[in-house]
Amino acid sequence: MHENEYDRYELLVVGSANADLVIEVERRPAAGETVLGSDLAVHPGGKGGNQAVAAARLGARTALLARVGDDAHGRLLLESQRAAGVDTRGVLVGGAPTGVALITVDPSGDNSIVVSPGANGRLTPEDIRAAGPLFEAARVVSVQLEIPLDTVAEVAGAMSPGTRLVLNPSPPAPLPDSVLAVCDPLVVNEHEARSILGEAAGSTAQEWARALLTSGPRSVVVTLGAQGALVADSRTGAFVTVPSPEVEAVDTTGAGDAFTAALAWRLGQGEELTEAAAFAVRVGAAAVTRHGAQASFPTAEEVSGP
Ligand code: ADP
Repeated sequence: MHENEYDRYELLVVGSANADLVIEVERRPAAGETVLGSDLAVHPGGKGGNQAVAAARLGARTALLARVGDDAHGRLLLESQRAAGVDTRGVLVGGAPTGVALITVDPSGDNSIVVSPGANGRLTPEDIRAAGPLFEAARVVSVQLEIPLDTVAEVAGAMSPGTRLVLNPSPPAPLPDSVLAVCDPLVVNEHEARSILGEAAGSTAQEWARALLTSGPRSVVVTLGAQGALVADSRTGAFVTVPSPEVEAVDTTGAGDAFTAALAWRLGQGEELTEAAAFAVRVGAAAVTRHGAQASFPTAEEVSGP
């Protein structure tokens, strides 16, 4: 039996960690204009960081493989991950400043965002190869596209037969066939589905799921906001709609990350895809009832059914 310094993880998240720097303004500045805003608020974010926190808060044994800068933002992100219960031994430090999103929000809720990927852009295929023990210890690996594409391809290549890859292609980008072929599932929202499929997208979630399955993944999940999700599995040929609970949505930031983390965790526990999605829609719905991303993610108790 191979000795591994890591215990078994239910979920390994490989992805971005950002500091979201938010300023509320009366009006977002035009070119050459300076406006005064509120006090600065700093929130932990990034799709990788969000998913890891969402899973850990649900009680999942979760590890994060990411890169942050050797700076105050990096330390803040590491702290917030640890506070949520995420194993951060896989978080690499240095090489570039921590990724940041500069966000201005106006009173109507419209925002303008500038992202500096920073250290996220320096998470390399070599970093993935060096993290072999983390991959060996994981039942499910979840990855998104806020890190370099060749790093994502290395992750896909690192999957062992007993490990499952969940991929959320966000922000959407063309993916090599070798990556698509190991996704189980590929998780997309409407925007990502349309963007990946282009002109040929069709207009219904069924059509998107069918077209995406043709491109190689073993399964596809299309998230549909208040409508829940559509689950399509190439093994069974089944397309199943999973409705979301009706809730009063106040802020949908991070809903997709919460959904995907919950789905990936439950798959890691051996649940069927549809069953895992039925849990994930409850987690996504709970997340939209509160403000913020990581701050809005529920505990397992908060989504436990009647
Ligand atoms: P994204 O955040 O990536 O745009 P969605 O908007 O599809 O993704 O939301 C992901 C999941 O969050 C949905 O599948 C659903 O479970 C839940 N959700 C999102 N918006 C709502 C809503 N208004 N009411 C109930 N559940 C929601």
